[in-house]
Amino acid sequence: MTETTQIRLLIVGPPGAGKGTQAERIVQRYAVPWISTGDIFRANIKEGTELGKRVSQLIEAGQLVPDELTNEIVADRLQQADVAPGFLLDGYPRTVDQAHALDAVLGAQGHTLDAVVLLEVDTDVVVERLLGRAQIEGRVDDTEEIIRHRQEVYAEQTKPLVDLYAERGILVTVDGLGQVDEVTERIFTALDGRQGA
Ligand code: AMP
Repeated sequence: MTETTQIRLLIVGPPGAGKGTQAERIVQRYAVPWISTGDIFRANIKEGTELGKRVSQLIEAGQLVPDELTNEIVADRLQQADVAPGFLLDGYPRTVDQAHALDAVLGAQGHTLDAVVLLEVDTDVVVERLLGRAQIEGRVDDTEEIIRHRQEVYAEQTKPLVDLYAERGILVTVDGLGQVDEVTERIFTALDGRQGA
């Protein structure tokens, strides 16, 4: 890969699939910024900003932040200079409407997404993982009831996205079960082997 290569990626998967862990490795390999809407929201809540105040209750309840607000935040982020080499989106888009909003923002820049990495993991496994994370990180949305709700939200709102990207031929499905390194290797192999890479 040359320095001028650009790559625009999205990672999707149910909460607890290991997206964060894998995202960290993907951004290192491709030297692109990691754009996590969940992290942006959490940072704002922590800093007590206006945005943080607007979204904190929704996030604590495991509900989605309204599309309009989320779209605006990402659109702003994608105007910043550091995304010139590309980016990895994590946690956005999460609804079909958000996917269309992203298309519009990228389209205005003459760009499209290059690949969407889907981390596939069984629901029972992810619920277990998230309960473990709750003890370590103490995230407010990691109680069992909210974890289950977030899985439902994913199934209802985010899975249709996967179909959309599959139809576009940019979906890269990776088995998210196994050792972290193994999953990383699967992702890199799949991305390197994708058409047009
Ligand atoms: P995450 O860290 O990606 O699991 O996101 C944590 C929470 O932030 C979600 O449960 C939502 O409440 C909110 N959130 C993150 N990304 C989005 C998004 N794209 N659209 C709406 N809400 C989001």
